[in-house]
Amino acid sequence: MADPMADPMADPSDVADPSDVADPSDVADPSDTFSAESWLIHAGTDRTPGLPATPPLAPASIYVSAGPPRPGRAYGRDGNPGWEALEQALGGLEDGEAVAFASGQAASMALMLALAPGRERIVMPNDGYYGGRVLADRLRPHGAVPVPVDLQDLAAVERELTVAPSVLWAETPTNPLLRVADLARLGALAAAAGAPMVVDNTVATGLLQRPLEAGATASLYSLTKSVSGHSDVILGAVVSRDAELLAALRAWRSSGGGIPGPFEAWLALRGLKTLPLRIARQSHTALAVARHLTGHPRVAAVHYPGIDTSTSEVARRQMPDGFGPLLSFEVLPGDAEAADTVVASSRLILPATSFGGVESTWERRARWPGETAPAALIRMSVGVEPAADLITDLDHALGVLLCDVLTETTRWTTTRPGSIPRPRCRS
Ligand code: PLP
Repeated sequence: MADPMADPMADPSDVADPSDVADPSDVADPSDTFSAESWLIHAGTDRTPGLPATPPLAPASIYVSAGPPRPGRAYGRDGNPGWEALEQALGGLEDGEAVAFASGQAASMALMLALAPGRERIVMPNDGYYGGRVLADRLRPHGAVPVPVDLQDLAAVERELTVAPSVLWAETPTNPLLRVADLARLGALAAAAGAPMVVDNTVATGLLQRPLEAGATASLYSLTKSVSGHSDVILGAVVSRDAELLAALRAWRSSGGGIPGPFEAWLALRGLKTLPLRIARQSHTALAVARHLTGHPRVAAVHYPGIDTSTSEVARRQMPDGFGPLLSFEVLPGDAEAADTVVASSRLILPATSFGGVESTWERRARWPGETAPAALIRMSVGVEPAADLITDLDHALGVLLCDVLTETTRWTTTRPGSIPRPRCRS
């Protein structure tokens, strides 16, 4: 290659193209031989001698380019080596191709717009992530009309899918009620109706559940949650094997501009490397916490896949390696005040929204306008703290409800776990 510094008249096409430094297509593909865990650890690493062993972080809005623009390497809205490394890792997890977006909602919007032409309805769970329902409602003028349905009621799903050309928008386990739907049966219904099936796979992730294998056209992710795992990123993605849909999603991303930031993509790729470790521990601890909560005198109901006897067989078949970090429970006497008091009484579990981070968090879910969860439902995201510490904190916070009169002494004032006094009840 010519040295451009030595020859000021050098042809610009001879100048080193920064994207060549870490083109993800050069990355070795261990996915055929090794496990998903090994794939995630090594994905995004260029094994060329002399190059950094860590994935690229390329904060570039432009690329050196002249003549006909090279796809994805002329302007930063069309491509970035960092996103592509993340997409390669995530796509490999589900044997598909990933398209990353600025957030889970940006990914959902691109999907809804890409699938709307020729379809009148978007059949979606009445108990799923409320942001999906709000978005579908806003997009009514641009295509499909949202139709709420109970995904466990297969006859109802079949009926709704056959009324008119539709998209089936599934979510399992659902956020925040953790209800499990049978993806194989939903996939068969969608196929019979000629409807593409989208599955929001945010709660389970591709490590615990593989929707494309059940006939889904697309697997949707908020990467903000478990994939990034450290509560410091907003990002989303779609994984698919449908070339036409993937092209439409990339076109919507480029023209709509809902692109991932390079640093966010880098953080998410780093998070993916430890996802198997985190999610295994979180699944194990969440099951222990769910079992502990069941039977507590101030807990009316616990929601977690695997402990709901009506769907535990489906849950075990669909998620054989664990049920993920998210659970929810309803406190007695069933009002918002009781749940707010419990949330405010923790000393370790952080009062905050979202889920999938290394730190345990919880919130009364119905505090969000538009959320249809019961007033006294607390959604808890189990982090990687030892189960015993979480149970100590839970017992303390729920213990407040055993007092006749709530006290000020139960407010948490330190983030340090330690010896936690039993709540003192004012007489
Ligand atoms: N899907 C589910 C199940 C979610 O819980 C969320 C966010 O909470 C989203 C999608 C939207 O993701 P984001 O917040 O990254 O836009």
